[in-house]
Amino acid sequence: LLTVSGLQKSFGDNQVLTSIDLNLDSGQVVALVGPSGSGKTTVLRCLNGLETPDGGTVAFRGGPSLDFAGRVSKKDALSLRDRSGMVFQNYNLFPHMTVLENIIEGPVQVQTRPRRDAVADAERLLDRVGLASKRDDYPFNLSGGQQQRVGIVRALALQPDLLLFDEPTSALDPELVGEVLTVIKELAEENWTMVIVTHELAFAREVADEVVFMDGGVVVEHGHPDQVLRNPREERTRRFVQRLL
Ligand code: ATP
Repeated sequence: LLTVSGLQKSFGDNQVLTSIDLNLDSGQVVALVGPSGSGKTTVLRCLNGLETPDGGTVAFRGGPSLDFAGRVSKKDALSLRDRSGMVFQNYNLFPHMTVLENIIEGPVQVQTRPRRDAVADAERLLDRVGLASKRDDYPFNLSGGQQQRVGIVRALALQPDLLLFDEPTSALDPELVGEVLTVIKELAEENWTMVIVTHELAFAREVADEVVFMDGGVVVEHGHPDQVLRNPREERTRRFVQRLL
């Protein structure tokens, strides 16, 4: 579904991504793990078109291969945004919009879908995550777990090929983590293709088909969760895993 190679990104003098390679098959769940500051969020933002890489290529199946070492047209760069839906650490819901309005904003305003269809879809998705009754509430009246479930529905409503999760539970009180992880697990069972940045290694082992360990702007090691998390080949991975498990 997606091939990334040699992805590079700097902020000023700070080279955050040196060369990132990533391959995703349809239906695959990849957990992206690594120390704080290793560039995990930046990878997701590059895939979603929120950041423009300095080099490397990103190619979705059926789309252009974008070579960021050269010139990428604005239209091509924006095409990335149509392919993936992002779930943010801090939910990023619009505070002045109701739950329903938050969800239909992208489909109606950006994707120009008929409002009636977008509302019907939003209601169906809200019902799925147990939040049908919150349709007309504002985000500040919801718990963190409920807000994040709305964040997930908002990403799903874009009908993307790929879901990107940026530490979806790290802002939540511990008792609210489970309800969000359950929704993500259900999506994995439904064969959504997902990249999940997470510090929850037990969850990564349970849900991911592949774990990618990043450090210092490169992929240090990737493979089956049991191999990377239980029996790492690289010393850097071993130190990271020992600290967190
Ligand atoms: P964490 O687990 O703490 O979220 P991360 O692995 O997701 O970390 P990133 O958020 O991608 O790491 O950040 C990697 C580095 O890039 C950090 O040093 C950060 O300060 C820097 N960085 C990220 N975004 C920007 C930006 N917009 N401008 C300048 N520097 C940035």
